[in-house]
This record gives sequence, structure tokens and C-alpha cells, in this order.
Amino acid sequence: MLSEGLVSLLSAIVNSSDDAIVSKTLDGIITSWNPAAERMFGYTAAEAIGKSIRLIIPPELQSEENYVLDQIRRGEKVDHFETVRQTRDGRRLDISLTVSPIRDADGVVIGASKTARDITEKKEMERERETTRLQLAEALAGRDEFIAVAAHELRNPLNALVLLWQLLERMPGLSATPAERKLIERSRMQLGRLSSLIDRLMDVTRVRFGTFDLYRETFDLAALIKETTNRFAIQNCAIPISLNLESRIEGSWDRLRIDQVVSNLVSNAIKYGNGKPIVIAASVEADHAVVTVRDNGDGISSADLDRIFERFERVATRAKSGGLGLGLWITKQIVETHGGTVVVESELGKGSTFVVRLPLRG
Ligand code: ADP
Repeated sequence: MLSEGLVSLLSAIVNSSDDAIVSKTLDGIITSWNPAAERMFGYTAAEAIGKSIRLIIPPELQSEENYVLDQIRRGEKVDHFETVRQTRDGRRLDISLTVSPIRDADGVVIGASKTARDITEKKEMERERETTRLQLAEALAGRDEFIAVAAHELRNPLNALVLLWQLLERMPGLSATPAERKLIERSRMQLGRLSSLIDRLMDVTRVRFGTFDLYRETFDLAALIKETTNRFAIQNCAIPISLNLESRIEGSWDRLRIDQVVSNLVSNAIKYGNGKPIVIAASVEADHAVVTVRDNGDGISSADLDRIFERFERVATRAKSGGLGLGLWITKQIVETHGGTVVVESELGKGSTFVVRLPLRG
């Protein structure tokens, strides 16, 4: 038997608890009801004791009591069972329930004690979080759909405009001064830039809506890197770009897409490389081609390293030429669709090294 002191200590704990503590017989008849149960469910101890615990179980959840009593009869505990109970005035409460068997001196189960914690607030927060998550997903889907439509609609007139400017530039009878020719050429270049920005937006929608297909062919990656880099070197002749390529790296990839990967990395190395030397290397390691683009420019802080591969993410330390923050995201999608990986090693102020690993065959 428990000493009198211990009994009064236990009853003080039960009386002052914020959790509802209730005991019941094996038939579910309430035998004790603490002040927290009064506050939580709205019935006084006098009203509740002697009644069935089903009093606070909503009609559609009545079968739960059969389950709880079955567990208790078997001498088992029901732990942190999240459910709903109803108060005297019909309000629904989210609660976490723990029910334990009560045994007599011989160890025979004679009833149950249950502790109910009001988790309405926690559940409310969970519901709010879920609603916010859904709203965010919906907003993102809306954004992607808008981008898809806008890019598609902008592309056709823009392509036509690029063609018209090209025709104008090549017109045999065009009597333009060198200054005017320069203006025409610059306008066409800006149009070209606009076209490639729109192409990037279209890539977002292709990946997003699962229409991003690869057209594989066998080609020499070293030759492609040489060709792509040359294009950049001509436009940026002041920047020392050196190549360290294995003589032939043959594999099966989507040529245009891999050109896009190399172009993105090299153009970033130029954009963020502060005019310092850039080294591009490529070799075969086991059954992979490994391409490395190293610059000695701004570098990227460790906090930003993960997010630069996300969509529309830019590191806003400097207002370098107005990109969309899509290049690396698209690079990653292309490389991963080929079954490869792209990683970056970088430190602020110490330049960056991007490493692409591509399986030689798909
Ligand atoms: P964009 O260049 O259009 O902003 P990217 O997706 O290509 O988009 O790059 C995302 C961000 O990653 C850039 O805004 C830049 O802050 C950072 N970044 C990319 N490449 C480099 C690099 N070589 N050195 C330093 N920062 C880089």
C-alpha cells in the first residue's frame, strides 16, 4: 500500500496538472476526473464521475474506445494517440492521449488511467503550415505557367525580328555609314541576347513540365569544348583562357545541351572571374568524362554554395550583368538528365571551380 504522504503528493500532482487525468473502469465508466479535465472538457467531476467516457468521444470516433479498452484489457498501453474529443459545449479539441492499465495488488487489470493533452494549438500550426505550403506550391506553379506562356508568346516575334535585322545587315544596297552599321550590329546582338534569355525561360518550362528530351549522338567532347571556348575567347580576348584537354573524349551526349553546359560555366567564369586567368580542363576517368572550369575571381561564400544551383537564385553581392539566375540550374538539370553530376568548390575572393562528371554512355 502507498503511504499517506505519497498519496497526498500524487493527488497534488494530479490536481495541479495541466493535462486532463482521468481514470475509468474496464467498462469505460469514469472513476476520477481532475481539475484540468474539468477545464478542458467543461464537465465538473461530479457530472463526469459515474458516466461513460464515451461522453467526450465524438459520434464518428466512438469505435476508438473499443480499441483503447481492448488494449487495456490485454494489459497494454496506448501511447500519444492523437485524436479528437468534444467538450460539453460541442467544441472539438485535438488531443494527445496516453492510456495505461491500472492493476490491483495481484496485478490484475481493473481499469485505466488516461492523460489527455490539448494539442489544438500545435495542430492549428501544422494546418497553417500545410496551407502555406500548398499556397506556395500553387503560386510557384502559377509562376511557371506564366513563364511558359510568356516565353512562348515572346519567342516568335523576337525570332522574326532577329531574322529581319540579319537581312537588313546583309542587304547589298544598304547605304549605311560605318557608325550606322555598328548600331545595326549592336541592336542585332542585343536581340540575340534577348533570344537566349527567352530560350532559358523556355528551358525552365521544359524541365518543369517534363518535356526535356535528350538527343544523343556520339561526338568528341574535347573538340566541342575547344570550339565553345574559342567563341568566348574571341569576344573576351583580354581574358587569358587556357585549355588542358585530353586529346579525344568520345561519348554519347546531347551536343547542343552539353554546349549549353560548357557555355554557361565558361560565361560565368568570365562574368565573375574579374578578368583573371581561367583554366578549362577535361579528361576521362574510368567511364566518365570530367570537365573542370576554374576561375580566380569573386568566389562564392559557403552559405551561398547550395542555393546557386536553384532556380532564379543569384548571389546579390554585386550587380554583374543582368542574368536571371537560371544558368546553373539549367546546367544541373542537363547534367543530371545525362546521369551525371555538377559540383562547385569555392571560397569568397579565391575563385571557383566547377566540376562536371558525365557518364561516357547513357
Ligand atoms: P546568373 O549568372 O544569370 O546570375 P547562374 O545560375 O549562372 O545565373 O548563377 C547563379 C549565381 O551563382 C550567380 O548570380 C553568381 O552569383 C553565382 N556564380 C555562378 N558562377 C560563378 C562563378 N564562377 N564565380 C562566382 N559566382 C558565381
